[in-house]
Amino acid sequence: MRVIIIGAGIAGLAAALRLRQIGWESLIIERAPQRRGGGYGVAFGGIGYDAAERMGILPALKDKAFITKELVYHKANGQRSFSLTRETIAATMGNRSMNILRGDVETVLYEAVRDTTEIRFATTIDAIDQDERAVHVTLSDGSIEHADLLIGADGLHSATRALAFGPEEDYRLDLDHMVAVYMLDKRPAAIAQGTTGTLSAGGRTVAVISVGDGRNVAFFGYRTDRSTGTPADGPHKTLPRVYGDMGWVVPEVLAGLQTADSIYFDTISQMVLDTWSRGRVVLLGDAAWCVTLFAGYGSSLAVGGADLLGAALENNPGDIPAALAQWEAGLRPEVERKQKLGRRVKGVYAPANPFVLWLSQLPLRLASLGPVRHYMARRYIKG
Ligand SMILES: Cc1cc2nc3c(=O)[nH]c(=O)nc-3n(C[C@H](O)[C@H](O)[C@H](O)COP(=O)(O)OP(=O)(O)OC[C@H]3O[C@@H](n4cnc5c(N)ncnc54)[C@H](O)[C@@H]3O)c2cc1C
Repeated sequence: MRVIIIGAGIAGLAAALRLRQIGWESLIIERAPQRRGGGYGVAFGGIGYDAAERMGILPALKDKAFITKELVYHKANGQRSFSLTRETIAATMGNRSMNILRGDVETVLYEAVRDTTEIRFATTIDAIDQDERAVHVTLSDGSIEHADLLIGADGLHSATRALAFGPEEDYRLDLDHMVAVYMLDKRPAAIAQGTTGTLSAGGRTVAVISVGDGRNVAFFGYRTDRSTGTPADGPHKTLPRVYGDMGWVVPEVLAGLQTADSIYFDTISQMVLDTWSRGRVVLLGDAAWCVTLFAGYGSSLAVGGADLLGAALENNPGDIPAALAQWEAGLRPEVERKQKLGRRVKGVYAPANPFVLWLSQLPLRLASLGPVRHYMARRYIKG
């Protein structure tokens, strides 16, 4: 059996690994000229953790996981407000979950498939055709590839989805926020090594996140119901406009924009489709659902979803539609729960009203108390 996978992100690489484990051959098509790496710190747990264990990559992921020494919240004037210790952070996460750089999850998966899987970089998908026996994919390098299954794992702005399901606007639910993330060459002096500092004010959050090995990520998330311009203006123009009046470490972090290798800058949007497959074409990961960073579960769902897809294909040999139907029926309730969680968290994230901000931080201030910690673990982590 052969699969063509569009996208060498977490979802695409996890699918290649899982399908190889059931004897499938994969061809991965990646638009970027080379591996992307980097990214931001993600919480990796739930069905992703279980899947990683079954797929044999858990030890390699654990090697790259990090624990922030302290998470410090700052007031609008930059003064320290309150903080969570390493022990409290670890306790709210539970013991089958880890913090890890998004790019490190990708690296572990890439290392696991690179010797057995062809990855064609700087290539994209131009057309899809399918019949009862195969799916035929025209690629931007002019070649036509044939397979039993096509997996669209090409992220929020999936070209596979556009070709097989129609325009993105028909499925995109914008959560009225923008996010920007990039690696910092230099940690601002006011952020102690190994700690994460964050400040929320006026509908804007900024953070310097320590992601292990001395690496630090700049994070910006803000509401777009202010005069923030459009994503098309790009991060170099937009971020100084939105955050230019903030003190604390913000000027230093904004200066890091000039030397950042790659900047993630996008709307925070979910994808809402009432089915994730059309015949022999199936969507996986952000292309299919994009629960968003508000749910903090996209990487976990990408790996967990790939694992369950492999299991469904194994259980229904030779019957792709039956496998895809079984896979979706099993996974959809979890995805919908996380999408709902994402929409709920949106309401308390970076609130413009200082009183709402104070209220939304209250559980964090109290997090070191046992009962509150259990409540948070249930509400925010398990969803
Ligand atoms: C700031 C932030 C914080 C997050 N925090 C968490 C968290 O705490 N926990 C968590 O579990 N998740 C988190 N997530 C979500 C998580 O990163 C994603 O859900 C996860 O990486 C799954 O991605 P994916 O592989 O589906 O898509 P992507 O990572 O977008 O990968 C898609 C791949 O397809 C390629 N591609 C795109 N278009 C084409 C094309 N036309 N042709 C060929 N290739 C193409 C891209 O170059 C890319 O390599 C966060 C996301 C953000 C933005």
